[in-house]
Amino acid sequence: MNRIDFITATLSARKRIALVAHDHCKARLLEWAQRQKDRLARHELVATGTTGLLLGEHLNLPVECMISGPLGGDQQIGARIAERRIDMLVFFWDPFEPQPHDPDVKALLRVAAVWNIPLAANESSADYLLSSPLLDQAHPLQVPDYDNYLLARQTKKDP
Ligand code: PGA
Repeated sequence: MNRIDFITATLSARKRIALVAHDHCKARLLEWAQRQKDRLARHELVATGTTGLLLGEHLNLPVECMISGPLGGDQQIGARIAERRIDMLVFFWDPFEPQPHDPDVKALLRVAAVWNIPLAANESSADYLLSSPLLDQAHPLQVPDYDNYLLARQTKKDP
């Protein structure tokens, strides 16, 4: 792949926040989300299947649920990040247990890095993200310039 340039895009003030927790981390995510409920309530929440069901019940907030992670939910979240339909990822992945869907976990973390979205992989980072003044503001961020990449490829092909 050719080198990708970056352009400045804008993240809107109301963020689309994806939440994912592996089984042994779910209780911790629920506790954290309860503590951060007022901040989370100002944004749109999306989650993998089981995490989303639990969060919806626990917080009494609307949460859009994907398929369960091991069945493809991580990939659905990753696809939305690549489509720029998710602005932030809170992912409590389990550092002590191998997962049946480890390749999907790695892919999700990678695509979050590619699209430069704010990513928290543990509770204290999640607190930092949610207490950032940027959380409730529109602000710029750098994203891959895919349109220009396509254009450059196209121009190369033209005689
Ligand atoms: P789950 O998926 O929320 O459906 O449990 C999380 C994961 O394991 O990726």
